[in-house]
Amino acid sequence: MQYSNFDSIGRPISKLGFGLMRLPKLNDKDETIDREEALKLIDYAIKSGVNYFDTAYTYHGGDSEIFVKDILRKYPRVSFCLATKLPGWAIKDKGKTTDELFNEQLEKCGVDYFDFYLLHAVNRDIMTVFEADNSYEYLAKKKEEGKIKNLGFSYHGDFEFFVELVDKYKWDFVQLQINYYDWEATDAKSFYKVLEDRNIPCIIMEPVRGGSLHTLNEDARKVFENLGSASAASYALRYDLELPGVLTILSGMSNFEQVEDNIKTFAECKPLTDIEKDAIEKANILFRKNFAIPCTDCKYCVETCPANVNIPACFSAYNDYNKTRDTEGLKKNYALIPEENRADKCIKCSACLEHCPQQIKIPDQLNKIANIK
Ligand code: SF4
Ligand code: SF4
Repeated sequence: MQYSNFDSIGRPISKLGFGLMRLPKLNDKDETIDREEALKLIDYAIKSGVNYFDTAYTYHGGDSEIFVKDILRKYPRVSFCLATKLPGWAIKDKGKTTDELFNEQLEKCGVDYFDFYLLHAVNRDIMTVFEADNSYEYLAKKKEEGKIKNLGFSYHGDFEFFVELVDKYKWDFVQLQINYYDWEATDAKSFYKVLEDRNIPCIIMEPVRGGSLHTLNEDARKVFENLGSASAASYALRYDLELPGVLTILSGMSNFEQVEDNIKTFAECKPLTDIEKDAIEKANILFRKNFAIPCTDCKYCVETCPANVNIPACFSAYNDYNKTRDTEGLKKNYALIPEENRADKCIKCSACLEHCPQQIKIPDQLNKIANIK
């Protein structure tokens, strides 16, 4: 395992961070974590040197934070770093306060401090919610009390506001979506540069873009297959590993194969050769051609939908269809989604829109999917 060593953080952090957002589930009906299977993944990761675990109030419908207690039954609190996040939507929509949420999170996780604590999925709008509740001031106080070791935010907004926000408060780290697709497509490189110029450690989320840079499409996959047996995901991770200002790279691992593959990538930590860099560029161009809906399967929209549309599942079925234009294939994938959770059930209320970090026009896209014959 490779580790980052930032003086400001004060302890080595594994370059591979374990995102607790896509753990194995007991069934497809809800988000309850299959503890036995999930702990096998955690055991292997810890044995291989992973010491950073990232949860959030919303992950697995709230079960992810509770699952931290299961990890703590096996491993001492000081043996790993724990990160969680403050959900602005729960302040805005549920009328909770930062104080209530923070204490609820300590209780749910069964800890008395967080190593890393983030304002979650910040953009211009959600920051007004945090500022109205004096969230930053409250959390800075918690840091003084030792209940937070490092304070930061994850970001999904425009560039101008990002610069304003980085300079307005003191941050120990910032979390950004960086991968070879977003580097140019959503200008992730400019956001990263802002942190690099200010020596603020960067945590990377979605290095494989919710798995889509692993599945890719046939043409893009072939580019990597021609190089050898390494997985497409490993090239995406190695792309991010080249960035010097990175504290850790989060991967939301769901099965043993992914954990094993990622551990191998981070253990070898081979710099990209020129041939591999060219291959990434080629694969990216081929992938962008038919990557229709940039959904990362984060599920932030799911709980907000009054019509219970399984938005990410509909988008995943459509993205698969878009690679082949195989209407029969789409129908087959679509048939796996229960009828009551399909695209045509959308009532166009727009409640999901402000929750989507990728700024997808969800009702419009669902309408398009519902009308494919
Ligand atoms: S616009 Fe459609 S998908 Fe979005 S929350 Fe409303 S009903 Fe659900
Ligand atoms: S539509 Fe947006 S919020 Fe919903 S799962 Fe996809 S990326 Fe996440």
